[in-house]
Amino acid sequence: MKENIRLRLLHSLAFFAVVASALTATESFGQAGQKQADVSQGIFPKGQQGPASNFTGKAFNYGLVAADSTYTSLVGNVYFEPGARSNWHTHPAGQILIITDGAGFHQIKGQPKQRLKKGDVVKCPPNELHWHGASPDVGMQQLYIIPNTEKGIVNWMQAVMDAEYGD
Ligand code: MN
Repeated sequence: MKENIRLRLLHSLAFFAVVASALTATESFGQAGQKQADVSQGIFPKGQQGPASNFTGKAFNYGLVAADSTYTSLVGNVYFEPGARSNWHTHPAGQILIITDGAGFHQIKGQPKQRLKKGDVVKCPPNELHWHGASPDVGMQQLYIIPNTEKGIVNWMQAVMDAEYGD
């Protein structure tokens, strides 16, 4: 009899352990079963939220290098929350993006959307209408470099509609 109770207790403990490990697995693994780091924790501070007039969803900018007459370049970091993206825009002297974490998209008007992931480097040519942002499920951290700022920095256009973002 005592042996029976001990066995039942062991079974209950084993069941509890399986449930507990399943819960832990759900927390630290994404839908694809791959471990996902917290993309919102970037290398740099999160910075200031970009205005709704230029972004859909929440995007945060942290300036790293202010443009001056010696370097004439603007460098900073943007964190896009999942689903967040810039409006369509142009850079008179172009822009270089370096993706440091997460996943997202870059699209030049009239061309297919390009998928971006950690480690990717993208050149946005001068005056090409484009947008960039996070994937629907995973945020994105991007460093940006805007050279030759004496030519201008950015010209903001219309928002990227859900149909454009999702197609
Ligand atoms: Mn851009």
